Amino acid sequence: MRIARFVDQAEPTYGIVEGPADADPSELSITALQGDPFFHGVQPTDQKHRLEDVRLVAPIIPRSKIVGVGRNWADHAKELGNDVPASPQFFLKPNTSVVGPNEPVTLPSWSDEVSYEAELAVVIGTICKDVPLERVDDVVFGYTVANDLTARDAQRTDLQWARAKGFDGACPLGPWIETELDVEAAGGLAVRSRVDGETRQDGTTADMVFGIKELVSAISEAFTLLPGDVILTGTPSGVGLVEAGQRVECEVEGIGTLLTHLRR
Ligand code: ZN
Repeated sequence: MRIARFVDQAEPTYGIVEGPADADPSELSITALQGDPFFHGVQPTDQKHRLEDVRLVAPIIPRSKIVGVGRNWADHAKELGNDVPASPQFFLKPNTSVVGPNEPVTLPSWSDEVSYEAELAVVIGTICKDVPLERVDDVVFGYTVANDLTARDAQRTDLQWARAKGFDGACPLGPWIETELDVEAAGGLAVRSRVDGETRQDGTTADMVFGIKELVSAISEAFTLLPGDVILTGTPSGVGLVEAGQRVECEVEGIGTLLTHLRR
């Protein structure tokens, strides 16, 4: 099931996106839900729209936090001159960094080196703490696509990554949350990015240093996770800088493609 949030006329509303996974967006529809599926379950209404007649917004604005994971792909750690860490390395992005699919991101005036990072994002469904590996599935609501935008210059000069990874717009999320993704599929799931249509990253979750369940479990030992919290699971090699006017597409196999426009 694909859970999105959309704007028709008034307030953002949750909906279920329906249609074949490989269909053109013009063939997809969205059925509005009653209330917030994170707290009230999935309750469809009789209101249905063509997907192209509504505007999707970020499928979730985390109520408390986005937890990122640094250097979780060996080839990406290497391309930035870093070693693979012995234990997973976490950082936080504020919820004010979230923007939705197809939304513009204004590059910060204080950075000349903003990079894209395509990532699989875990969306938490229930309050939890100290989650053992075998219970991780019980606390996950679903999965979406993230672009962990990072100001490399500020990442080098600042003591912490708060500004480099937390500026307004630094966390595009979407286009929707897939609730039935098999993240342990044999061979992994492809994680890709394209800049102006040209492929830049093409990795697979099979190459992650720490797996998705390991990350959720380890993060829950540090933080109580709340419904709607988001975990970014790291990025494959091929990251690079972007400029105003460029379009970045981040894609995770089995979920969809998140498009972001950059501007100054
Ligand atoms: Zn990242």
